[in-house]
Amino acid sequence: MTTTPRLVAFDLDDTLAASKSALDPRMAGLLAELLDEVEVCVISGGQIAQFRMQLLDNLTTANDAALARLHLMPTCGTQYYRHVDGDWAQIYNERLTDDEKARALAAVEGAARELGYWESDTWGPILEDRDSQITFSALGQAAPVAAKMAWDPSGDKKNTLREAVQALVPDLEVRSGGSTSVDITRKGIDKAYGMTKLAALAGIPLDDMLFVGDRLDENGNDYPVKVLGVECVAVEGWEDTAAFLTKLIPELRAAASAASA
Ligand SMILES: [Mg+2]
Repeated sequence: MTTTPRLVAFDLDDTLAASKSALDPRMAGLLAELLDEVEVCVISGGQIAQFRMQLLDNLTTANDAALARLHLMPTCGTQYYRHVDGDWAQIYNERLTDDEKARALAAVEGAARELGYWESDTWGPILEDRDSQITFSALGQAAPVAAKMAWDPSGDKKNTLREAVQALVPDLEVRSGGSTSVDITRKGIDKAYGMTKLAALAGIPLDDMLFVGDRLDENGNDYPVKVLGVECVAVEGWEDTAAFLTKLIPELRAAASAASA
């Protein structure tokens, strides 16, 4: 890139950490170093509990000054958290109304049952109320990756369910999430929505940001950020991201010392 970014944003699953897994200590160290140089955002379809388990509980080497530069956007930026007075504070939460939630839950359960996709043996609940998002996970939130891969290898079931649910709640947005999941939100909620909000909240133009994600392909949940025009770096897992940061951090340091010289 020609200029150095003022903010680096990351997807979470398969970008900073393996899916639903804790951050590797090496990545935790790199993020702490990065936070010494620039603002950082993590944006995901997942909820804050997932951020805590995967990310925050493992960011042990970052001090309060560094954590103050970290922006958390669960559920695609319909929720926003900052580190304030030693703890993570919710700054806003664009929750669905009770009516929207009730209709979304009824639509996805009804459609899944009708299509024969409502499983009886699951790893945890199938439906989850994430406040700003309703999520259907065919095999439950805690299903092992192998079971999820086997459930819908072609993605046909997920796409069929998505279309059926969308027809039932045309005023809401129904999207494919992870390998077995379907997410329901208000219209127009995706990572581009979150990044646009972030630009206003952080006071940093999108042109001064860099986004790193593993699903920047046309069907991926990171793709809207690319369409938005943010400079993007595609990775295939956290090891890729670690390799990228190992290169980026010294460049940021060099640019900062050149600017202050
Ligand atoms: Mg991902």
